[in-house]
Amino acid sequence: MSNMQKKTDVILIGAGVMSATLGSLLKELAPEWEIKVFEKLANAGEESSNEWNNAGTGHAALCELNYTSENGDGSIDVSKAIKINEQFQLSRQFWSYLVNSNLIRNPQDFIMPIPHISLVQGENNVSFLKKRFEALSNNPLFQEMEYSDTPEKLKEWVPLIMEGRTSNEPIAATKIDSGTDVNFGALTRMLFDHLKSKNVEMNYKHSVKDIKRTSDGSWEVKVHDIDNGKIENHTAKFVFIGSGGGSLHLLQKTGIPESKHIGGFPVSGLFLACNNPEIIKQHHAKVYGKAKVGAPPMSVPHLDTRYIDNKKTLLFGPFAGFSPKFLKTGSNFDLISSIKPNNLLTMLAAGVKEMALTQYLIQQVMLSHEKRIEELREFIPNVKSEDWETVVAGQRVQVIKDTEAGRGTLQFGTEVISAADGSVAALLGASPGASTAVHVMLEVLEKCFPQHLKEWEPKIKEMIPSYGVSLTENPELFQEIFTLTEQTLGLSEKELAFS
Ligand SMILES: Cc1cc2nc3c(=O)[nH]c(=O)nc-3n(C[C@H](O)[C@H](O)[C@H](O)COP(=O)(O)OP(=O)(O)OC[C@H]3O[C@@H](n4cnc5c(N)ncnc54)[C@H](O)[C@@H]3O)c2cc1C
Repeated sequence: MSNMQKKTDVILIGAGVMSATLGSLLKELAPEWEIKVFEKLANAGEESSNEWNNAGTGHAALCELNYTSENGDGSIDVSKAIKINEQFQLSRQFWSYLVNSNLIRNPQDFIMPIPHISLVQGENNVSFLKKRFEALSNNPLFQEMEYSDTPEKLKEWVPLIMEGRTSNEPIAATKIDSGTDVNFGALTRMLFDHLKSKNVEMNYKHSVKDIKRTSDGSWEVKVHDIDNGKIENHTAKFVFIGSGGGSLHLLQKTGIPESKHIGGFPVSGLFLACNNPEIIKQHHAKVYGKAKVGAPPMSVPHLDTRYIDNKKTLLFGPFAGFSPKFLKTGSNFDLISSIKPNNLLTMLAAGVKEMALTQYLIQQVMLSHEKRIEELREFIPNVKSEDWETVVAGQRVQVIKDTEAGRGTLQFGTEVISAADGSVAALLGASPGASTAVHVMLEVLEKCFPQHLKEWEPKIKEMIPSYGVSLTENPELFQEIFTLTEQTLGLSEKELAFS
């Protein structure tokens, strides 16, 4: 065992899409800063960011019904949908900047155009969808959205879903062609390749064990080199804990007051993947339905065309489930070891409040393959069980904290937790997730580097022209940015010969 002391400007813990995005932003804003990355696995993008571990939806609220809710008076609240769409536009702009600057290449290896469709059945759901369409389609960000409740049209949009459908229940869908499928694993790997070429030090198979403040206000990070068993100590003025499900434990080790009274609740995921090329060919969309009553928002069922390893594939899910692990490669003690004296009451309160959710997740985890196929049958009436196999997806650790709604409230969004002096920040939670990585990492910059923002702003605006501007209120700017990013990222469907 050795105990080396190595100094650097920035340490990124974890090689997922969040660290990749923050590192890429910082390399453009402060190229002279020295950055080190520590990742416990052998490669980048192997946990939640991996293409098989998430659904790859470029979340822009084009089809996800849980981003729009019905008010008491029957009107539709679209504020969250607009917010998420604006955030996704920031990602599109930053990715386009990286492509235009030749910092990453071949955008079709990580982003592909795919229609985003919402599909519902039953009178109440159809009425909700129609109202949602009316509320959104006037907004410039959603103006290409189409609505239909005629079976002939729906057969054109989703032939596989309509074939063999005998129910007389009303059915309706909205479609928007400018949706995307994003391979966040490929994107993560591309970003780290780019960072490596800019002298960022990548340390794989290096697991961070502890983080402590030093007398000069920097942070000392204790790292275990898995191959040689040695312990190294590295210090940095700024540490970002981008460890996905591993972030909560590391945040707790910092001991900062902001890390107290926060807990995590893991929700696991499963997909059904189609192994029949004839079926895969018949579907070309991401089709989101409505979450079942009592189901958490992240388990909204969807049938997705995906592009993985330059191959078209078809996934259905995710089925939520319960596992005490915080990472797919984590430990069964993750949940219990995250309970500390300072968050015990918060966790207990959540345990009492979220009994129904826990029961739901346990019941989901017990589902047999045939039961999962029954759920898929609601999407594909003629589904054959043998055409589908189970794929284990990533873990999502939902944040539990004390809010105005009470002690131990489960959160479904992402949270940037940072020290008051901005010297350390962690990202907790996983929704909308990777799609909004650029927005979330800009938040990290705003919280942790306020002293540099004025100097950085012109560069941020060069990379992300809509930074600080509402695109909803500036439809011309939106159109300009949308067309430009569409061209740079190769998202104009006509340009693609892929099928
Ligand atoms: C089932 C599912 C479906 C999803 N669908 C979507 C979707 O459709 N669209 C979307 O935008 N988002 C989606 N998400 C969310 C998205 O995947 C995550 O928000 C995103 O990948 C998180 O990235 P990250 O970098 O924070 O974490 P990760 O990708 O998990 O990376 C964290 C890294 O930190 C490493 N690490 C952990 N602890 C340590 C340690 N102590 N030392 C060193 N390294 C460590 C891990 O090995 C890992 O490589 C989904 C997630 C799941 C689970």
